[in-house]
Amino acid sequence: MVVTRFAPSPTGYLHIGGLRTALFSYLWARKNNGKFLLRIEDTDKQRNSEEAAQKILEAFEWLGLNSDEEIVYQSQRDEIYKKYIDQLLREGKAYYCYMTKEELDKLREEQQARKERPHYDGRYRDFTGTPPEGVEPVVRIKAPTSGTIVVDDGIKGHIEFKAEDMLDDFIIARSDGSPTYNFVVAIDDALMGITDVIRGDDHLSNTPKQMVVYEALGFEIPKFYHVPMIHNAQGKKLSKRDGATDVMEYKRMGYLPEALLNFLVRLGWSHGDQEIFSLEEMQQLFDPKDINKAASIYNTEKLDWLNAHYIKNSPNERLEKLLEEDFDLVLASHDKKEILLDALKERAKTLAELATMAKEILEAPSEYDPKAVKKAFKGDAKEILEDFKTTLQTKENLHLPVDYHDVMEKVVKKREIGFGKIGQPLRVAILGKLGGPGLDVVMAILGKEETIKRIERALKNIEH
Ligand code: GLU
Repeated sequence: MVVTRFAPSPTGYLHIGGLRTALFSYLWARKNNGKFLLRIEDTDKQRNSEEAAQKILEAFEWLGLNSDEEIVYQSQRDEIYKKYIDQLLREGKAYYCYMTKEELDKLREEQQARKERPHYDGRYRDFTGTPPEGVEPVVRIKAPTSGTIVVDDGIKGHIEFKAEDMLDDFIIARSDGSPTYNFVVAIDDALMGITDVIRGDDHLSNTPKQMVVYEALGFEIPKFYHVPMIHNAQGKKLSKRDGATDVMEYKRMGYLPEALLNFLVRLGWSHGDQEIFSLEEMQQLFDPKDINKAASIYNTEKLDWLNAHYIKNSPNERLEKLLEEDFDLVLASHDKKEILLDALKERAKTLAELATMAKEILEAPSEYDPKAVKKAFKGDAKEILEDFKTTLQTKENLHLPVDYHDVMEKVVKKREIGFGKIGQPLRVAILGKLGGPGLDVVMAILGKEETIKRIERALKNIEH
């Protein structure tokens, strides 16, 4: 069975890069009818916060990427790690190192002076003497001193790490007994039964170390997939400005979870030239072997385009709920909300934009855009508006956009003018500016009474 995991460190928010590898891991598990697990890597007590962990889980809930088992917290597993440290010490695969910080610094300096890579020189590896007094030792693992460690990466292919270039006997427990990062990751992945580790390629250099731990403990080594980073349009590492921000920020900006997931799956993975993927489709089609070897490029327009697609295809009921929850737009009792949502969901790239457009219709203009007034209120504009208003007043049973369109048409025909001649001043009168959705739609949403009220106000207040 394929078991994957996502293992965030709660040092900050969940960002888009992390979420993407989480999605890949989730999809790969689903595709294989396997399991996707979550592990919170909260061993760094100085940098971790419970609040951050909570926020990460909140983001997962929003996106519907649920863990198939109870979430594992590294901070609760000290006993387990200790057991394995003791085991390695007992078996002679790890040892106490009594080097002081001063000694280590001195060694580094000497190595640097000789233009060598700073590294631990193994001086306690085979130490049998009496330990120096007053030094709390660290525990180091016996790493291979020669040869290569091969990572057969599912994306990058065959990668060789020369042991002497990078491994040393790295520390697995600090002098206070606390286990180190690579040690606990390897143990947890093994104990959680992880078969496929999909993570950012910024972790690639950790992999040989983790493999040393696997070997020492006799655990089976999982398959690794190191996913290339996401870059911005300038080919640089993604910064806060271009999207490497809290995933929940996307919710606040009015993106739908399925749009974000669809956007993410295409960052580095493709299936022909298909752009739109439902979650079910992603689950069927995703295969990490199709992940691109090059970095992917973050592109906001693509995200907007996908979001617009998903907004357009969302039932009004759902949009209404989200608009109320996230954008304080309450449409519940509005009798024309269907017309409103039908019209605006065709045009909005985000829910925030949809909410703004809706408010611009529902709230009477507090001012009239002077440029639009200048453009629209020329010649007999006011007379035309009067005429329209009077015609409207005589009509009953105005419900749909087409009913209002008919009234406009009537006036246009009678006065033998083009639609623009009535449309422009009417738009300014009703919305305060040019642009926006069809006027017939806007009037149908507002209803006869409000439309007349706004026209009267404009006639009174706009001078030309
Ligand atoms: N905790 C690590 C991080 O947040 C991920 C570890 C891993 O995927 O192996 O970057």
